[in-house]
Amino acid sequence: MIPPTEEFKQACAEFGIEFDQGEKEHLYAFLDILYEANQTTNLTAIKDEKEAWMRHIFDALTLLPVLTEIEPVEGEPLKVCDVGSGGGVPAFPLAIVRPDAQFTLVEATGRKAELLNSFAEKLGLKNITIENGRAEQLGAFKTGKFRDVFDIVTARALGRIAVAAELCVPLAREGGLIALIKGQKAEEELEEAKQALHMLHTTHTGTLDTPTGKIVVLEKSRRTPKIYPRRDGEPKRSPLGVGKKA
Ligand code: SAH
Repeated sequence: MIPPTEEFKQACAEFGIEFDQGEKEHLYAFLDILYEANQTTNLTAIKDEKEAWMRHIFDALTLLPVLTEIEPVEGEPLKVCDVGSGGGVPAFPLAIVRPDAQFTLVEATGRKAELLNSFAEKLGLKNITIENGRAEQLGAFKTGKFRDVFDIVTARALGRIAVAAELCVPLAREGGLIALIKGQKAEEELEEAKQALHMLHTTHTGTLDTPTGKIVVLEKSRRTPKIYPRRDGEPKRSPLGVGKKA
């Protein structure tokens, strides 16, 4: 793995991201472990390791302003859930620079969850917990152990907004935020998700343009109706409120 690139350092400076002592080394160690594991398990499609500093680390850190937008419940640390963590982006970079916050990573694939556990151990990150399971079950009404729990729920590359919202919103507490890392299609996907957001009692509070994409921020204004999320696979198979194309 190669050390932080000039492009990365400059982007961080312009975006207002500052690092405490040892944090850059810690991020470097994460990339090292990620790319080592990627030799045998497909965790990232970004083969150019130089690019990884922007496409993985910086991209994850563009969520930092959203993490400061919300107060944790009094007397508790900020509780963040990352859904569909894959190789650990955005959760690991965020956990490294926000040691005061507690991160729960939800990953459906057993092999990936296993690797994420080994990453957290190797990096000595005590503020990361891995949950091998599906968001549909963890967020289910009554039976889901993570329903209404988190201050913020994040996701990158989990699916279009209508899909990601049904998976993420139930896990957020009332008044909590959902922050999705999106690309250029954000506006189009938001338009498509209008009905879904309404059905999930969620509002779009803003979209932040960043050098690597767009952060779409949603707020869970009221409790999620009991019927959401629907059963495993259904959110993706038949996105909420999106009419079947003729
Ligand atoms: N966030 C990572 C990985 C994106 S790939 C990144 O941006 O690099 C999407 C990941 O979500 C895959 O690892 C997949 O196993 C997981 N996933 C998909 N649907 C899920 C669900 N319903 N619940 C939990 N994890 C899911």
